[in-house]
Amino acid sequence: MPEFLKTGSSPKINGGAQTLDVPAIVKGVIDDIRARGDEAVRSYSEKFDKWSPASFRLSRKEIDEIISTVPEQIVADIKTAQHNVRTFAEAQRGTITDLEIEISPGVHLGHKNIPIDCVGAYIPGGRYPLLASAHMTILTAKVAGVPKVVACTPPINGQIPSSTVAAMHHAGADEIWILGGVQAIAAMALGTETMPKANFIAGPGNPFVAEAKRQLFGEIGIDLPAGPTEVLIVADHKADPTTVAVDLLSQAEHGPDSPAVLITTSREVGETSIREVDRLLKILPTAPIASVSWDRFGEVVLVETLDEAYKLADDYTSEHVQILTKNPREALKKMSNYGALFLGEKTCVSYGDKVIGTNHVLPTKKAGRFTGGLWVGKFLKTVTYQEVTSASQSGELGRLCGRAARAENFEGHARSDTRGPCQRCRKRNIE
Ligand code: NAD
Repeated sequence: MPEFLKTGSSPKINGGAQTLDVPAIVKGVIDDIRARGDEAVRSYSEKFDKWSPASFRLSRKEIDEIISTVPEQIVADIKTAQHNVRTFAEAQRGTITDLEIEISPGVHLGHKNIPIDCVGAYIPGGRYPLLASAHMTILTAKVAGVPKVVACTPPINGQIPSSTVAAMHHAGADEIWILGGVQAIAAMALGTETMPKANFIAGPGNPFVAEAKRQLFGEIGIDLPAGPTEVLIVADHKADPTTVAVDLLSQAEHGPDSPAVLITTSREVGETSIREVDRLLKILPTAPIASVSWDRFGEVVLVETLDEAYKLADDYTSEHVQILTKNPREALKKMSNYGALFLGEKTCVSYGDKVIGTNHVLPTKKAGRFTGGLWVGKFLKTVTYQEVTSASQSGELGRLCGRAARAENFEGHARSDTRGPCQRCRKRNIE
């Protein structure tokens, strides 16, 4: 039986949004933007972000001016990270192929992968300028072949986040808007007088952003449920407690609603890691946020075997899973529910967040049970086609289809499909 060495004080509460009815707030904003368009978008931007510029969309001149203020090293680092993301995304794109087979003589079945024509990319930034999300959403859409990517990011404390704008531009955004939260998601999903309507929204965000995407799904496509960040570490007796503590806090600092969980086979590693977290929280500049999520959602669980640890980790289905064990690759075989695995002590979750090249838009709140993270494939529609060039095969299919349709009481289908090759072909004068 697992033993909890630490539990969260309010594990069932939805973090920073716990006192708010998030679905109701989000629905109100979406309904109003649907009814009043740009006017409503502006009013919610004023209300939630105190942001009401002449235009939410940046002109090319403004983009160039903003980027000129970004330190050269930051721009160089953005380009390096984007190189890694592009390289991995292109390799993944290479695994997606169009297909055509001749299932029987003269009967051709195929599928094609068509990029979505217009994507809205959300780059979160209420609390931190999450510029890496620009690589993950915009750049990946572009590698998939999406012709038009409209990208939104919120202002931070009434300022345009210049490094994020640089990342959005270099990632290939066709339009850059300084607009955040539900108003940005709804504007992109519904279209307004000034905002083009996207057919798909990608990108992570806080509970409001995640809920807006959920409510709009169906009218538009979405990438996946990608809400507040989560981390889970599986550690054996060899794991370094300081490394464990640093990795837990590096994700807990995302926001007050970010769970950080350690599952370990070693009581000593578990207890020392808790002490290390407490020590680091006294010196970490982001401790005011990280300590809230650690208090509320931080858990340390002691189990007897690594197999038990993997099973429990699968039950948690965390967004990021870090494996700090003697044989970390074992997790690839033993685990199946997670957003991304980070194998071994030299592989840190933060690398995946920022630079290593895999996508950091990952499933949260157990969505890893049914989806992986964002990748080029999410921006492609796999559509099918079929062609019958043989009259006799058309007849065979017609007879089969007629029986199948009548088994379902679809007489209209049956009549359209059972005229047979001769009648059909005579009518069309093929034979
Ligand atoms: P954000 O851009 O997601 O949200 C900021 C917006 O929230 C603001 O512009 C504002 O309009 C809106 N908002 C704030 N309070 C509101 C209220 N009371 N009512 C209505 N709207 C309100 O930025 P953030 O808040 O910093 O959150 C970013 C989130 O993204 C974090 O939770 C982080 O963990 C998460 N994230 C997730 C992943 C993933 O792949 N799952 C990746 C990166 C980041």
